[in-house]
Amino acid sequence: MVLRTGEQYINAIKNRNKVEIYVLGKEVKDVTQHPFLKPSILSFKATYDAAHEEDSKFLARAWSPFINEEVNRFTHIHRSPEDLAAKVKLLRKLSHKTGACFQRCVGWDALNTLYIVTKLMAEKGKKDYYERFVEYLKYVQKNDIALAGAMTDVKGVRTLKPHEQKNAYLKVIEVTKEGIYVSGAKANITGIAAAEEVIVMPTRAMSDKDQDFAVAFSIPLDTEGIKVIVGRQLNDARRMEEGEIDALPYRTNHEGLVIFDNVFVPMERVFMLRDWQMSGILVEIFSAYHRQGYGGCKSGLADVIIGASYNLAKQIGVEKASHIQNKLTEMVLLTENMYSTGIAASLDAIKLCEDCWWVNPMFANVTKQLVTRFPYEITKLSTDIAGGILGTAPSEWDLKNSKLRPYIEKYLQGISDYPVEDRLRMVRLLENVSLSVAFLIESVHGAGSPEAQRIVLNRIYDYDYAEKIARYLANLEKTEFKDKAEPWRGRTFIEVS
Ligand code: SF4
Ligand code: FE
Repeated sequence: MVLRTGEQYINAIKNRNKVEIYVLGKEVKDVTQHPFLKPSILSFKATYDAAHEEDSKFLARAWSPFINEEVNRFTHIHRSPEDLAAKVKLLRKLSHKTGACFQRCVGWDALNTLYIVTKLMAEKGKKDYYERFVEYLKYVQKNDIALAGAMTDVKGVRTLKPHEQKNAYLKVIEVTKEGIYVSGAKANITGIAAAEEVIVMPTRAMSDKDQDFAVAFSIPLDTEGIKVIVGRQLNDARRMEEGEIDALPYRTNHEGLVIFDNVFVPMERVFMLRDWQMSGILVEIFSAYHRQGYGGCKSGLADVIIGASYNLAKQIGVEKASHIQNKLTEMVLLTENMYSTGIAASLDAIKLCEDCWWVNPMFANVTKQLVTRFPYEITKLSTDIAGGILGTAPSEWDLKNSKLRPYIEKYLQGISDYPVEDRLRMVRLLENVSLSVAFLIESVHGAGSPEAQRIVLNRIYDYDYAEKIARYLANLEKTEFKDKAEPWRGRTFIEVS
C-alpha cells in the first residue's frame, strides 16, 4: 500500500467516531461527503493522485531508504538539494491541478523537521526520540498516511510567556510510563479535518520555566478528546449551494482550531518532551522548510491567476493592448521571483547532519517575505485586467434561469468565440483563487507572519562586515575579506550565535 491512490485516501478518512469535527456549529461525521469540506478533501486527494498521474509522478514519487521502497514524496525525507528543489516544483504543479492549497505540506515539513531535531538530540546522547521517530516515519511511509502539522498555539497575550498565562499554549499535564496527557489548542491548522494524523510541535523558543510546553508528538486525529472547529472563509457558503460554477475551482483548503482536551499520547509517539532547549531550533528548522515551499505553491496559484487574466483579456479583445501586456509581464516577474528564491533555497541547501538536508534559511525567508507582498500585487493587477465584473457578475443560478439567460448572453457579450458561460466561469475562477485565503491571508501569515522572517534576515546578514567592505572601498580601512561572497554571519542557527 506504499503509494495510495486518491480513492484509498478518501476511504481512510471516511469513518471516524472519536474525534469531534464541527462546521458552522454542527458536528460532521463523514468529512468526505460534507459539501463544506468536500472541496478541501479533493484538494488533499490531489497529492495522492499526483503520484499516479503521468505528468506528475516523476515529481510526486521518491525512493525511501528507510523502507527500501518508492514512496509518495509527501512522506519523504529530503536527501539532497535536488530533492528540495523537486518539492518546490511539485508544489507549483499541484497548485495547477487544484487552484488551491492542498494542505499536505505542513505534515511533510514536520516529518523532515523532526527527523533533524531528533537526530540532533541523538547526537547529544538522547537516542530514544530518534529511534521512535524513525519507526513512526516507516509507518507513515508504508501506509502513505495523510498528515497535518500543528504548530501555532493560540498564544493569548503575545507579550506573556507560556508559563505566565493559562490556556494559551498546549501543555503536558501528566507523564506516565505509558505516555503523556496533553491539553490546550492549536490554531489555524491547515487541512486538519482532511488528515488522518496530526504532528504537534512547539510554536516558539522556550525557557526552562516553559518546559511543560516544549512537546512534540503525533496522534491519530480520531482520538478521544480531540475537537476540531473548522474556520470560515470568503465565499465558503457557495459550496453549500452545490452548483458547478460559482464556487470554482471546487478545490479549496480549510483551516481549523484543534482542541486537545486531556488527550493521551502513547510514549512511542512522543518525539520531544520538556526539551525546552530544542524548541527554538525546531521552530527555526520547520519555518524555513515551510517558507521555502511557498515559493512553489504560491507561484503555482499565480500561474492560474495569470492564465485567467489573459483569457479574460482575450474574451473582450484587449489582450494585445500595451498596458495589458505590461500588467501580465509584471505578474510574470513577481511570480518567477517567488519561485526562483524557493529554488535557490533548495539548491543552496545545507547538510545539518548525516542525511539531513535543510534549506538555505536566508533564501527561504526571502521567499516567504516576497510571498507576503507579491500575491497582493498580482491580485491587484488581475483585478485591473478582469474589470469590475469580478465583483459584480450574476450568479450561475441567474444564468441557469431560462428567462434571464438570453439577457445575460446579450449584455455580457464579448468576442463571439467565447460563450457567456466561459466568461462567467473564468470570472468565478479568478475571483475564488485571487481573493482566496490560500493566496492572500495565508501568504501573509502562513509559515510565520512577516516580522518573523525579517528577524531571521537581520540575524543572518552581517551589517558590520558590509560596513567594512564600504570602509575599504572608501579608503577608510584595510579589510580582510571573508572567503564567502555573501556578507552573512553564517547560514545556520549553529553558525549564527
Ligand atoms: Fe502546501 Fe502551500 Fe498549502 Fe502550505 S500553503 S500546505 S506549502 S500548498
Ligand atoms: Fe501554509
